[in-house]
Amino acid sequence: MSLRLASLLLGLALLLGGCSAPPDGQQRQFLAMGTLVEVTLFDIDPPRARRLLDEVEAEFQRLHHDWHAWEESPLVGLNRALAGGETVEVPAVLQPLLAPAIRLSAQSDGLFNPAIGRLIALWGFQADEPARRLPDPARIAAEVAARPRMSDLILEGNRIRSRNPAVQLDFGGFAKGYAVDLVVEQLRRRGVRNAIVNAGGDLRAIGRHGERPWRIGIRDPQRPGGVLARIELGGDESVFTSGDYERYFEIDGRRYHHIIDPRSGWPAEGARSVTVIHPQAATADAAATALLIADAADWPRIARQMGIRYVLRVEPDGSVEMNPAMATRVQFMRQPPPEIRLTAALTPETAP
Ligand code: ADP
Ligand code: MG
Repeated sequence: MSLRLASLLLGLALLLGGCSAPPDGQQRQFLAMGTLVEVTLFDIDPPRARRLLDEVEAEFQRLHHDWHAWEESPLVGLNRALAGGETVEVPAVLQPLLAPAIRLSAQSDGLFNPAIGRLIALWGFQADEPARRLPDPARIAAEVAARPRMSDLILEGNRIRSRNPAVQLDFGGFAKGYAVDLVVEQLRRRGVRNAIVNAGGDLRAIGRHGERPWRIGIRDPQRPGGVLARIELGGDESVFTSGDYERYFEIDGRRYHHIIDPRSGWPAEGARSVTVIHPQAATADAAATALLIADAADWPRIARQMGIRYVLRVEPDGSVEMNPAMATRVQFMRQPPPEIRLTAALTPETAP
């Protein structure tokens, strides 16, 4: 077993905590989109569950191929055309991703920026294993100066071009969430009421875990293998975490991780991890990425713009910052509990 797979298995087991291997649930695990996916269905008889799980697995593998950012795929073909200044038809499999990617990028003030594919490649993260070398700072600076943005894209019906040849799309910041949403919708159409779709610890849960709500753990970025807090989920919610410990390499004791601040071109230094709860997984995923990059004083504003109601950030010193509504939902497991700071409310409904 590769080291990466072993660590993926560890992360998944940890995050499921008390709700894995349910006695009356049907479960499947497989690798897709660079992570271990685990799908659990409740109250479905085993032969039917097997068919549904076959469909779900096939769907994930199809999306993994369609959206792949560096192996030959519809996305790689589109990126070639954009770099060449051509006007082309958006491949059908990419059409549904574009509008939400543009919207979420604008709402995040461009911190979530799927147009920075060239920067992500430069840092060596468009690879199964990171390249583990520092890019030339002059090239990073040149990429930042070229200012690739989603608003550089010009869409006319199904045709697209970029007014900026530096735009290269990489949907890694929200593709997993988007895939989770598609699969949950697919399961719902088939009549599934109670299920959890977990992609490497990021998940969307619908219905209940038998007699009780779904309960999940948030990984502690300060202690490998530790659980920071537990959350109980409502009838349809997603929980996504972005962290500096997920994909990274170290040089001279410094960590370089895979979430790049588009303003500097360097790995984000905002926080150690950010956890977001939101109904839709794609939005939760993009928001977790954006809020990890956001400055300490500014993240509540970005969260509001993205329509997010629950955020928990672990700051570089290990303390926790969250909004009051999130505080009512988390139960801390770390002993002693972390130092906690509450921000102002994110929404009028949750104002004290
Ligand atoms: P994970 O997928 O490991 O849970 P994220 O959802 O935060 O983590 O996504 C990280 C991926 O997002 C990177 O591997 C890269 O492909 C892409 N990415 C990095 N920086 C940004 C950014 N500023 N905006 C959008 N996508 C980004
Ligand atoms: Mg993300």
